[in-house]
Amino acid sequence: MFTRLDSCSILGMEVIQVEVEVNTSGSLPGIYMVGLPDAAVRESYRRIKAAIANSELPFSHQLITVNLAPAHLRKEGSNFDLPIALAILAVSGCLKAGELEGRLAVGELALDGKVRGIRGALAMALWARRKGRKEIILPLPNLHEAARIEGITVTGVESLREALEYLQGKAPRREPVPAGCEEEADEPCLSEVKGQLQAKRALEIAAAGFHNLLLIGPPGSGKSMLAQRLPGVLPPLSGDEVLEVSSIHSVAGLLDPERPLQRRPPLRTPHHSISHAGLVGGGQQIPRPGEITLSHRGVLFLDELPEFRRDALEVLRQPMESGCVTISRSLVCANFPARFLLVAGMNPCPCGFLGDPQRSCSCSPRTVRRYYNRVSGPLLDRIDLQVEVPRLSPRELVELPAGETSLKIRERVIAARSRQVERWGNATVTNAHTTMGKLRAACRLEEDEKRFMYTAAERLGLTARGFDRCLRVARTIADLAGRERVAVADLAEAVQYRSLERLWGSSRMGEVDYGGGI
Ligand SMILES: [Zn+2]
Repeated sequence: MFTRLDSCSILGMEVIQVEVEVNTSGSLPGIYMVGLPDAAVRESYRRIKAAIANSELPFSHQLITVNLAPAHLRKEGSNFDLPIALAILAVSGCLKAGELEGRLAVGELALDGKVRGIRGALAMALWARRKGRKEIILPLPNLHEAARIEGITVTGVESLREALEYLQGKAPRREPVPAGCEEEADEPCLSEVKGQLQAKRALEIAAAGFHNLLLIGPPGSGKSMLAQRLPGVLPPLSGDEVLEVSSIHSVAGLLDPERPLQRRPPLRTPHHSISHAGLVGGGQQIPRPGEITLSHRGVLFLDELPEFRRDALEVLRQPMESGCVTISRSLVCANFPARFLLVAGMNPCPCGFLGDPQRSCSCSPRTVRRYYNRVSGPLLDRIDLQVEVPRLSPRELVELPAGETSLKIRERVIAARSRQVERWGNATVTNAHTTMGKLRAACRLEEDEKRFMYTAAERLGLTARGFDRCLRVARTIADLAGRERVAVADLAEAVQYRSLERLWGSSRMGEVDYGGGI
C-alpha cells in the first residue's frame, strides 16, 4: 500500500513543499524514516505511534517506510507529525483514496493524540494559496492566524482523531473567528512628550523619508519615549506589507494570538547585551530571523548604542544598505528581509552629563573620545539625522504645553511619502534608499544652494557620504513642505542634523569642545 500527503516547512523566510510518502510492505512490523530528517523528525515515529495508539486508531502491522521528499533538503522540527500520522492511517485503511487529495497538513502531535501549535502558520497558508491548494489542515491554536488569509480553506484540528474524522466526513469543520473584529492596539502619542521640538521634527523627517536617526542626550531626557512613538507617525503598512510583516512574526512565533495581523509598523527594542545572532539572525543549523528582520518596515531602537558589541554593530552596515541579510549555515543559506529604520540612543558622554547646565560631567576628554569611538564611523555615517535631546528642567516639564498628536504628524508624513512614491515610481523606495544619482537629480540644486552646501561641508568637515546624507534629508524636508525643488532653507535645516560632525569633525578624533557643550 502506498499513499502521499503534502506538507510544508519553513526555511529562513521561505516556505518549502515537503511530500510525505508512506509505503507498507512485507509482514514484519517496523518503521523506517528516510529523506534527510533531523533528530526531531527521526524521533517523530515514537510520538506518532503513541498518538495513534492513544487515539484508539488502528496501526499497520507491516513494515512502514516514510519518505520526506525532496530528499536533498534537511527536514527540521516536528511539523510533519500530523501528515505522517494521517498518511499511516490512510495506508492502514482508515481513509479512502482521494480523501487526502489537494490537501496540505502540518502539525506536531502530543503523545495523547492532541495536535500542538506550530510556527509560521500564516506564512504557510499564504504559500499554500499561492500554490493553488484548496485546503490546509493545521493545529487549532494556529487557526485564527492562518484564517486571515482569504482564498483558501483553513481547517484547525484539536486532535489526530478529529483530523481523521473530519477527512472521513464525520466531523464538522470548525469555523474561524471572522476577520475584522480585532481592534487596533493603542499606540503611544507624541503629544505626551513635552518640549523637544527639534527631536520631534527629526522624528517627522525620519518617518517621511525613512531616515536613520541618532538621539544624543542624558539619561532621562526622553530618548526612549521619542523612539517608542516613531512607529505611530509612520504611514500604515500596505496590504502586502501587512502580510509580509505578519509572516515574519509568524515564523518567529511572535504573533499576538488576539491580533494575528501586524497592521502597524513594528517596533523592536533589543537590550545591548543581545548576541550577534539575536540581532542579525542566526541559529544552529537552520537560520532564524534576528531583530533587524523582526523590525522590517518598522523601527529598530538601539538604546545605549556604544554599549552594543562592536562586532554586532559592524554587521548592521550591509543590511542597512541592501535591506536584507543573508545567513549561511552548514546546511542551508537563507535570505531575510531587513529594511528597518534604525533609531539609536546614546548619552553625550559615559556619565551622561556633558553639557548639562544642572549637573557637572566627571569624564575626561580621553574617556569621552573613547566612548564615541566605540561606535564605528561607517555606521554613524549611515545615520542621516543626529539630534540632541536635552534634559528639560522641572519648570519646563510642568509649563510646556502638549505638542501635536502623532496622528496630525502622520498626515504630513503620508503626504510627503506619496510625493516620493510618485517620484520614484515604487511604493517601497524612499529618499533614504533611492540611488544617489536619482536623488541628486531630484534635488535640482541651483547656484545658491550649491554654494551653501560647499560652504557647509567645508565648515563641518563633512565626508562625501555625510554630504550625500544631507542632500537626502533636505529632499525629505522639501517633500514635507511640498516643494518641487530643494531650497537653501531645506539644506540649512538638514545640516543642523549633523550634531556629531559639529562636535567631532569628520575624523571624530578631535578634542571635545566643552565650551559649546552638547
Ligand atoms: Zn560625562
